[in-house]
Parts: sequence; C-alpha cells; structure tokens
Amino acid sequence: MKVVLREHLKEKPAAGTALGFGRYFTDYMFTMKYTAEKGWHDAKVEPNEPKPFDLATSIFHYAQGIFEGMKAFLQPDGSIGVFRPEENWARMNRSAERMCIPRFPEEVAQEGLETLLKLEKDWIPNERGTALYIRPTIVATRVMLGVHASTEYLFFIILSPVGSYYAHGLEPTKLLVEDYYVRSSLGGTGEAKCLGNYAASMKAGELAEEKGFDQVLWLDANEKKYVEEVGSMNMFFVIGGEVITPALVGSILPGITRKSCLHILREKGYRVSERRISIDEVVAAAENGTLEEAFGTGTAAVISPVGLIRYQNKDYSVNGGKMGAITKMLYDTVTGIQYGELPDEYGWRKIIR
Ligand SMILES: *Cc1c(COP(=O)(O)O)cnc(C)c1O
Repeated sequence: MKVVLREHLKEKPAAGTALGFGRYFTDYMFTMKYTAEKGWHDAKVEPNEPKPFDLATSIFHYAQGIFEGMKAFLQPDGSIGVFRPEENWARMNRSAERMCIPRFPEEVAQEGLETLLKLEKDWIPNERGTALYIRPTIVATRVMLGVHASTEYLFFIILSPVGSYYAHGLEPTKLLVEDYYVRSSLGGTGEAKCLGNYAASMKAGELAEEKGFDQVLWLDANEKKYVEEVGSMNMFFVIGGEVITPALVGSILPGITRKSCLHILREKGYRVSERRISIDEVVAAAENGTLEEAFGTGTAAVISPVGLIRYQNKDYSVNGGKMGAITKMLYDTVTGIQYGELPDEYGWRKIIR
C-alpha cells in the first residue's frame, strides 16, 4: 500500500478532553479512485487535508453516496482491535449496489484500513468508552449535472477519536415516536447506508430535540403502525421475557450490532424474535407492566438503554428510566469483546499489529 507522509502532524486532543462524536480528525486518510476506464485504482494512504471540488460534482447535487461506521479499540496488549470489519465491507457493497455505485474490492479497503490504523495508532484514545471511529465513504465525483449514475467515484476512509455518542453517556435516552414524517419506505433506500437517508431524517430529529428528546423512533411508512428503528440504532424491546427486534422488512438498516446482539442472545438461550412489532403492542406492554426493557444498538451508540418513549402525547416510562438487565448484559458482552477484556468466543475481533 502506497503511503504519502506529511511533514507536520496535528496536535492530538489532550488526555481527558471530552471527545464528543466526530469532532476531531486524524492526520491521514485512505483514498481510492474509480473511473469507468480504469475501475478502482490509485489506492493509497495520504495526509487528511481539504480537497478542492468543482461545484458541479455530482455528489453535491444528487447525493449518490454511501458510508459505513466502524470502531477501532486499543487492546490491553497494545494491539488494535476492529469489530467485524468484513461485515461492514459486505454491507457497503450491498449499499453500493442499491445506489448504482460500482462494487469495490473489499480486500483493498481492508488493507487500506489496516495500513491507516497502524500509522494512526497514537490517535486511538485509551479510556473505556472511547474509540477511534472509522468512517469509510464513497461519493460520486463526476463533474456533471445530468441525473445519471456517475462514472467516477472517490472512496475514502477518515478516522475520528470519539467518546460517547450521546451527550449524557449511558443514561437512558428519551425517544419520540414520529407519526407524520417517515425515514424510509418499502422499495426506498432505508436498507442502504446512503447519504440521503440522513438528510431526510433531520427535520423530525430537530423537532424531537426541541421537545427535549434524544432521537426519533420511526414507524413504517405505509401504516405508521410498526416500529422500524431509530435512524442510527436498531431497536429491541423486552416484553414478558421475549426479546423482540423488528424484522428486516426492507426499510430497516441491517445493523451489525443488531446481528451481534441477536447472536449473543440466542447463544445464551434467551427467547428471541425477529418479527414485526406494532407501536400499539409496545404501548400496551408499557401500560400493563410487561415492557421490561427497551434499547437501541449501533456502532456509534453501542447498546443504548431507552428510558422513556412518547407516543401521541403520552409518555411511557421503561423500567423506571433505568438500564435493564438484558441491556446491561449485552453492553458488557459487546464492549468486553471490543475492548479485549473478554475472550473472543465468536471470532468478531480483527486484531491488527
Ligand atoms: C449504521 C446504522 C445503524 C446501526 O448499524 P451498526 O452496523 O450496528 O452500526 C442503524 N440504523 C441506521 C439507519 C444506520 O445508519
């Protein structure tokens, strides 16, 4: 892998700095280009510096772009651990397919990531709860205003040392059930990690924040009846001992943390269902006292307990606003594997030295 070094390194945030999420960026990035003639080529690690773009570049107009999110964790022996990166590359190529972006070679992306991480190891924060967030992205770079799939693309990976995704850390979050706006619909792009999904969700997100909520809980677009997800996290509910997560019907992002939690729960013998779950079922369970836990799962937020759900102007408290036992077990298991504190029973930790 070609590496272009920079002359001066940036100043790293001092130990103890509240890192927040995605505010600091490291010295280097991985890039690779695509043209119709050459295919994917020119893979290299280079200084992370601003790049000039023509304002007619198609990504600025039609949002033909996709991304991923992973994390690297400093291991007790000083090596670097990345959680299930092959799952992210596979999903990214599925997103590419949906957005008419040419498939990229996953082994080149992985080699680029490893080269980058080795070079940037000193940027990995070492407190529990922090990580080096990895953001692979592909954007359409052809200078052209016609509404067609681009013939040129840029693949890049940038890195950001992060703390907790939510300002209040592991405190249970408050969700506002959205029954007007929708995140995605069947046949739409909800299954792909594509840029436009997030732009489309911001209006409802802002309205929820104004009312003091952390996130929006999205319902299905057709009937506004079934719970879908949170937009950066997949949802789980524990009702009367059954652990339920909405089935991947086509408008829900297939989360890797979701998949990992399902695996852990099944391995440990919990009663688990992937099925449609209506908001009425959740509300009824909250009212009759069988809603035991609710939590979200995602790379950025890890396992995030939900303490309150508002639906049609009524508030439903979950587990007295405290983190439940299954939520805690999953948090401890997933982060234990990620931080190298637990044995890697399922082979999820990719170690880079
Ligand atoms: C990324 C994402 C998730 C979580 O997926 P992970 O692979 O667990 O990080 C959930 N929902 C949406 C819409 C997402 O973009």
